[in-house]
Amino acid sequence: MTETPAMRRRLLRPYAVAALALAALFVWQPDKITLSASAGTTSSGITKGDTCPYKVETPHFIVEFSVPPTIGRGYATLCEKAYTKFSDIFQVPESEVVWEGKCKIYLFANHDQFVRFAAETHGAGAAISGGYTLPNKKDPLIVLFIQGKDHITLQQVLIHEMTHVFLQVFHKEVRLSTWIHEGFAQLFEFQHHPEKSRLQTSRSKAKAMVKQGMTRPLSGFWVSAFPATDYAGYAQAWSLVNFMTYSKDLRKKTGKYVLALKDRAPEHKGFMTIETEADLREAIKAEAEKEFKFQAEVFQEIFGISVDEFEARWKRYILATY
Ligand SMILES: [Zn+2]
Repeated sequence: MTETPAMRRRLLRPYAVAALALAALFVWQPDKITLSASAGTTSSGITKGDTCPYKVETPHFIVEFSVPPTIGRGYATLCEKAYTKFSDIFQVPESEVVWEGKCKIYLFANHDQFVRFAAETHGAGAAISGGYTLPNKKDPLIVLFIQGKDHITLQQVLIHEMTHVFLQVFHKEVRLSTWIHEGFAQLFEFQHHPEKSRLQTSRSKAKAMVKQGMTRPLSGFWVSAFPATDYAGYAQAWSLVNFMTYSKDLRKKTGKYVLALKDRAPEHKGFMTIETEADLREAIKAEAEKEFKFQAEVFQEIFGISVDEFEARWKRYILATY
């Protein structure tokens, strides 16, 4: 009898299975979006066909929405503007096909419509989420709802999620580190109505962390996948990218850096034999060190300064300007 992948999975030891996830430890995982919602409203009588009665198609997006058309069209314009901004900073030539097909965006006016759509198209898990993103190279997708939030907040969430999609798939589909993903996603998010964003709180948080010596050393931070509840991690990621894109000499090389990280990303071994918990700890440590060495080497080569020097300059910048 032939051994099926399912059988093979059952045969793996727990530690060996854990090792498979090693490579995924150091890269960004899609956000769990947590827009608040007042669930449990009565059925609005809307069926799948008309959950999003309006549709606007732009060169790179198809935006379907159940919010009023004038507002919906504004979202479509915003998407193209953000796309241009991303292309500019990551130096993506106009001729490049960033994603195949168009990025589909669904914006629901109420939670009930969102739940129905999500359950029918992406299953129960999607339906109980606060919105979701599929950052695929082919037909990427973002699904959000407005209920319980104002439009500026939803626009910020949309920009944040679009950044993840763009970063993930442009040039070559490579999972970049969490700090890069969340740093850029917040950078663009806060640039949209900064006065209504978390810009100021992130600044204060970052400054307090530097003053108290609480920032995480980049050797660890650049290879850790921090969760959405880790506000300090998010503030540090944002301020690193903020500094990188503010500083004139670094800014012009930022796109080249991300591109080099994508081009030279090492192939991760899919499977290794690990017998004990100590082996697993050792493997995780070795993998993290290897990943940081890779990022640091590319950084030094592109920017012409060491990570240590960058870290010191970043802290001085925070203390002087935040
Ligand atoms: Zn994010």
